[in-house]
Amino acid sequence: MSAPDRAAELRANLRAVRLRIATAAERAGRDPNTITLIAVTKFFPVADVLALAEAGVTDFGESRDQDASTKAAEFADLSPSPVSWHFVGRLQTNKARSVASYADVVHSVDRAALVDALANGVRAADRAPLAVLLQVSLDVNDVNTIAGPSGASERGGVRPGDLLALADQVASRPELVVAGVMSVPPQDRDPADAFSELLQLSAALRAQHGGATMISAGMSADLDSAIEHGATHVRIGTALLGPRKPTIG
Ligand SMILES: *Cc1c(COP(=O)(O)O)cnc(C)c1O
Repeated sequence: MSAPDRAAELRANLRAVRLRIATAAERAGRDPNTITLIAVTKFFPVADVLALAEAGVTDFGESRDQDASTKAAEFADLSPSPVSWHFVGRLQTNKARSVASYADVVHSVDRAALVDALANGVRAADRAPLAVLLQVSLDVNDVNTIAGPSGASERGGVRPGDLLALADQVASRPELVVAGVMSVPPQDRDPADAFSELLQLSAALRAQHGGATMISAGMSADLDSAIEHGATHVRIGTALLGPRKPTIG
């Protein structure tokens, strides 16, 4: 596909996604302007990031450090528009230092080791405090389970019972800011049920950390339900960019 055709396709997808966001917000009695669209551009080239930024997207998400760091640097060279980079994928401790050097928000903090690694990375990069979302596991088996030593579930995400302790650890590091919660609901759970649990956990977190107002929830398939349940940030890949290559997606 030629570059102009691809840019036109991305603009059309963006209009459709913005309409879905507005419709869901209206149904929930919410102002659509309070919901931030994060374009998840993993496996897509920087040209797509540029086209979406030109169409008005300000927030981009990536899930692998290698791709994210390259794309963020390429974008900065090519475009004068300032955008925010969100790291949304599972994060290995040994990648935290790199992520802390370019990310504006990290959505996937789910264990204490990651808190220290990110904080040390921010300090090494001499950057402003990094906004951190606590990724919560909404796996029904995790809700009432006693946590292991790390508090993180097998699939990623802190168990709900360990959320507040992890938030206190983040708050104890001046390099980090407790900004909210994030979740990817398990396949076998009704998304509405999972998002409503996340909303309750967000309220419990906000009672302790007043600034932790972000709720990162909702992807291409379930953004409407997430918005009805309070999502402030939706992470959209497929509905904006099309299907990812099955071999690498
Ligand atoms: C890939 C990804 C998304 C985007 O998913 P789509 O279903 O393609 O919209 C959102 N969140 C996370 C954590 C992802 O890894």
